[in-house]
Amino acid sequence: MANEVTITFLGGLGDIGRNCAAIETDDALLILDCGQLFSGEEEPGVDSILPDVDYLFERKDKIIGCLVTHGHEDHIGAIAHVLDRGLEFPIYGSAFTLGLVRYRCDERDVMGRTELIEVADNETVQIGPFSVEFLAVTHSVPGGLISAITTPQGLVLHSSDFKLDPHPVDGRRTNLPRIGALAEDPGIRLLLADSTNSDVPGTTASESSMGANLAEVFRANQGRRVITACFASHMHRVQQIVDAALEDGRKIATLGLSMRKNVALARSLSVLKIPDAAFFDIEEISDFEPGELCIISTGSQGENRSSLATAAAGSSRWINITDSDTIILSSHPIPGNEARVSNMMNDLIRRGAEVVHSGLVEIHTSGHGKRDELTTLHTVSRPEWFVPVHGEYRHLIAHAGLAQSLGLSQDHTLLAQDGDQVVLADNGVSIRHGVTSGAHQMLNGRFLGPDRGVIGERRIIGEQGIVTVTAIVDFDKAVQVCDPWVESRGWLDGDDGSEIEEEIVKLVAEAIESELQNPEWDRVTLTRKARRAAGTCVNARSQRRPMIMPVIIDT
Ligand SMILES: [Zn+2]
Ligand SMILES: [Zn+2]
Repeated sequence: MANEVTITFLGGLGDIGRNCAAIETDDALLILDCGQLFSGEEEPGVDSILPDVDYLFERKDKIIGCLVTHGHEDHIGAIAHVLDRGLEFPIYGSAFTLGLVRYRCDERDVMGRTELIEVADNETVQIGPFSVEFLAVTHSVPGGLISAITTPQGLVLHSSDFKLDPHPVDGRRTNLPRIGALAEDPGIRLLLADSTNSDVPGTTASESSMGANLAEVFRANQGRRVITACFASHMHRVQQIVDAALEDGRKIATLGLSMRKNVALARSLSVLKIPDAAFFDIEEISDFEPGELCIISTGSQGENRSSLATAAAGSSRWINITDSDTIILSSHPIPGNEARVSNMMNDLIRRGAEVVHSGLVEIHTSGHGKRDELTTLHTVSRPEWFVPVHGEYRHLIAHAGLAQSLGLSQDHTLLAQDGDQVVLADNGVSIRHGVTSGAHQMLNGRFLGPDRGVIGERRIIGEQGIVTVTAIVDFDKAVQVCDPWVESRGWLDGDDGSEIEEEIVKLVAEAIESELQNPEWDRVTLTRKARRAAGTCVNARSQRRPMIMPVIIDT
């Protein structure tokens, strides 16, 4: 008889992002990834969205460490924040992953709260009651690790984000043979596997097949300056861009802070190979002819203020886009970024540049395995129980369906969502729904919040503007000292607004006057009357619903 082991999902089962789970025994809690979700236009002003980390804070004393499967922000992006808010734990991961974690922790000055423990492929580490074997996995960032976690309730295999690339750029293939051996002995009790591409048939193209296509684009653009953009952590793509550029006799510089830092880290770990003689600093760009250059930039997602978007807008300090530039976007817009990328491409083309993107030439491939690869993982691992992870709801459902089509029974395929807990016990594996809220936690600078109310206010102000009306009242004499006045931002153009403003002043003055006749009047009732009078007029006359903010001042 062993005690229960639970796995609580704090994010990542409902969105692609903010992956985080807690695997626990009675007295130990190991965090499995701790990532963030980038906020969209739905959450104005929010920097990022975190997993439901309250669960971790409530169990602060049980935390024995955090495993980081790989260095993408949706897996490591919340770590610095939870350390900053007071948690302390060691972090286990590959050298490259930990290098990226260190950057984030240094930025927040929280390295004092953690210890980075590097693990190698095939290494087994004892972390409290868990014995964790780390296995190589292919993905769109170097150093990804599958975790085979031996718990008091059997072996849990966590796939990490993965594809089964037969020809990875670094030659480091997913360790399927070892997974097969574990399936044989001791057997995999529970599989948690990436669902991102579970509704896409076939197989994801090998990363190395991008190299030849990139080389062809370089050859076709001899004599022109080539500026490429890809994800700043995708060092295998960077390597292939570098190889294509070197073959074409070009020298390489990076543009953008995260690309510069990540390339430096990858070179120091020999994950990325660029001869010193072929590498120059962007500050020396004017020493070279356009045809001698390859610039590797951030901004493949058209992010505001990223280097490529800045150059597209004509305000880059280093590069002025002209008709002798070819821009290679070796990426695909992630959902939500399409419009931004499209705007950036228009800006680049308007400046005369030629833009080569993954819709024209095959210069991007996903980091996530499609259905055939998921099938292989299931077939090799033969888990007793399965929980699809890392995906939107439709991906989780598709992955569960795939597992069942391969012979897993319906009651051994558990569908969990954020906030749910998987319980491994002697008599089987089951789900407890809603153990924690699983709610999005918005991060604003260093602070958690704002809540939905504040986000709603921001959206009203952002979309409709704000109208304030200020009245001065002598509270002792119960009279208005002067006419109220109106100010607005983001509501109407000055001339259109001023006529309505006069009317608002008149109506608010009347409303206050009449309320002051009421023996029960106080500041609250005055404010309410003023808001109502102003709001009715604003809505009727402008057909808009800006935020109305009445201010009553006592003399
Ligand atoms: Zn990833
Ligand atoms: Zn991910």
